[in-house]
Amino acid sequence: MKNQEFSRRKFIKTAALTTVTAAAGLGSAPAISSSKEGLAVLGGKAVRQGRIGPSWPYIDDKVIESVMKTTKSGIWSRIQSASGTVPTFEQHFAKVIGSQYCVGTGSGTQALSTCVEALNIGPGDEVITSPYTDFGTISAILTSRALPVLVDLDPDSYQLDPDEVEKHINANTKAIMPVHIMGVPANMERIMAIAKKHNLKVIEDSCQAPFARYQGKAIGLIGDLGCFSFQASKAIACGEGGAVVGNDENLLNECFTVQNRGANKQGKNERIGPKYRMNEFEGAVLLGQLEGAKERFEIRNANANYLTSKLKDFPGLRPQKHYPGTESGSYYHYAMSYNKEHFNGAERSQFLKAIAAEGVPFGSYIKNGLHREPWVDTILAKKEYKTFFSPKRLKEYKESMNLKNCDLITDQTMVSMWGSGTLLAERSELDKIVDAIHKVHENRDQLSKI
Ligand SMILES: *Cc1c(COP(=O)(O)O)cnc(C)c1O
Repeated sequence: MKNQEFSRRKFIKTAALTTVTAAAGLGSAPAISSSKEGLAVLGGKAVRQGRIGPSWPYIDDKVIESVMKTTKSGIWSRIQSASGTVPTFEQHFAKVIGSQYCVGTGSGTQALSTCVEALNIGPGDEVITSPYTDFGTISAILTSRALPVLVDLDPDSYQLDPDEVEKHINANTKAIMPVHIMGVPANMERIMAIAKKHNLKVIEDSCQAPFARYQGKAIGLIGDLGCFSFQASKAIACGEGGAVVGNDENLLNECFTVQNRGANKQGKNERIGPKYRMNEFEGAVLLGQLEGAKERFEIRNANANYLTSKLKDFPGLRPQKHYPGTESGSYYHYAMSYNKEHFNGAERSQFLKAIAAEGVPFGSYIKNGLHREPWVDTILAKKEYKTFFSPKRLKEYKESMNLKNCDLITDQTMVSMWGSGTLLAERSELDKIVDAIHKVHENRDQLSKI
């Protein structure tokens, strides 16, 4: 019964137009199929066409007016006014997240880098993080000349595996940087317990996860510091922008000083710091966007839950695993694990070609775990790393870049749909996505021809 519901909608709509026959459905229950509607990739008619959801980044009159106002005001740098768009955005964002403090930066990468530097993590120190992320995560550790230690993932959640984290802690480990990938919370209960046990700092890479909640807390406020990105593809977007949040006043003051090229709020030049300040035009766009951002977050959540409910009895595509206590996600991507056994052995690439031809924008997201990228050899050849780490540690480090679950995810299982705009689509569009999955599944014996 449960599988019939998965397939019924489309075929009720199209049954009058096509020959309808019974065929093997998802799982074991019978489903209804149209023998005439072959796969679009093999010349059949596509289930749908065109973009799903609104264009992105989000633009409305409020955003445009806000930028005009800033332009005309001549307040273009945050240091010109305490009531400019950047300080105002910091206050508003802190409030909606539930944070006591917020420091704007020029990007998510800059926010992460600010945190690493503010925690005095540098040469000789190690930070444990995920190989399955934006390179900005790693880059933020490297710019302070610390060592990013990448550990393997839970293959079903695509998040850091806490057991792997604990295994890689040594005397030089200073922090853990969990990444809430897809905007869905990582296993923070375990990660915080491990951090506490080993006296480590936690910097949350919440770049994809604004407003997401876990065990009664906002993502970004569980660890010592949390970082957000407002890059153009993200849920709240100003082109390039970022923010650090947290409840420790001293630590957030350090963050302010770092991103203000080492000068504190009183104007004393007191430490090493790049100039990472958010500018007032970025602040203006963000202020214009912030008002409806929470509402859009709610829609993405409802739509993600809807898709998950439609897929729940279909083992061929298993939605991203959530940890207990996950209340919501930001869904930068809606991600699923592809299981070729349920698609007649067809490779993911064949499935992706077929579903794309049906008009569904699924992709494989991150192509390569970051442990397989050339920066590893670049840093191993650098004086800083050779000076501050023993040859034995660097050899071990290189050898540890063998992360099987991450490789499985990037090479075989990940199927995802970008969510910022797409997950704001009408329900009827989501139904077509489900119909298309169903159609490709029904025609799985054809996938070997692609
Ligand atoms: C986008 C992103 C970053 C980097 O943010 P930028 O604003 O692009 O610098 C870091 N980590 C994750 C998980 C991201 O998605």
